[in-house]
Amino acid sequence: ISSAASDVYKRQADFIVSLERGYGELCDQIAREARAEKVPIIRPETASFLQTMTAAAAPKAILEVGTAVGYSALLMAQAMPEGCRITTIEKYEKRIPKAKEHFRLAGMEDRITLLEGDAGQILSELSGSFDLVFMDAAKGQYIHWLPDVLRLLSKGGMLISDNVLQDDTILESRFAIERRDRTIHSRMREYLFQLKNHKDLITSIVPIGDGVTISIKK
Ligand code: SAM
Repeated sequence: ISSAASDVYKRQADFIVSLERGYGELCDQIAREARAEKVPIIRPETASFLQTMTAAAAPKAILEVGTAVGYSALLMAQAMPEGCRITTIEKYEKRIPKAKEHFRLAGMEDRITLLEGDAGQILSELSGSFDLVFMDAAKGQYIHWLPDVLRLLSKGGMLISDNVLQDDTILESRFAIERRDRTIHSRMREYLFQLKNHKDLITSIVPIGDGVTISIKK
């Protein structure tokens, strides 16, 4: 990407973010702390997109892979219909108590269930049907988790995956990628290929934030 093009993207993102009005004191505080402590959370320009998609999907049940400290789960909770429940998965022990505390402070502990452990293991054992799945954990694993995610996704349900453009490195040929990053690069390309070519999915790749896909299960 040329530096002129990346300047335009940056100005676009800054402009979009300048119009944001925040998500209430608690959520804004959680985001500030997470960013200060370098906890990876959804980018500001992706946050309102996630909320809008949640409102559009009007789900009865949401599955999130990658809770971190609960920020994106609380954003979805603000936009989901009454009666909707969220199941969210996190394996990092330091983040789990923080996420639980944030759900409690938001008065959401009855509506958000945190499953503790490795997502691959948990997804393979999980049953039920989810109308919205938000994938936001180890990028190199998306491709491996996809079969279980599609099993758990209801017909007409929406799968949102974050960070699919990998800071735009996804655009580069694998030979331009450092050797240690090649596995993740090829797995993400394969993931995008499958989302675009799967007979049961309609997918759009949206270049917002670090790149998001929206897939609908036919
Ligand atoms: N969705 C969160 C938000 O926007 O507020 C951010 C999630 S963060 C980008 C990704 C999280 O996935 C990290 O907290 C990490 O510990 C977790 N994670 C990574 N691999 C995982 C796995 N195999 N199983 C469960 N959690 C995993």
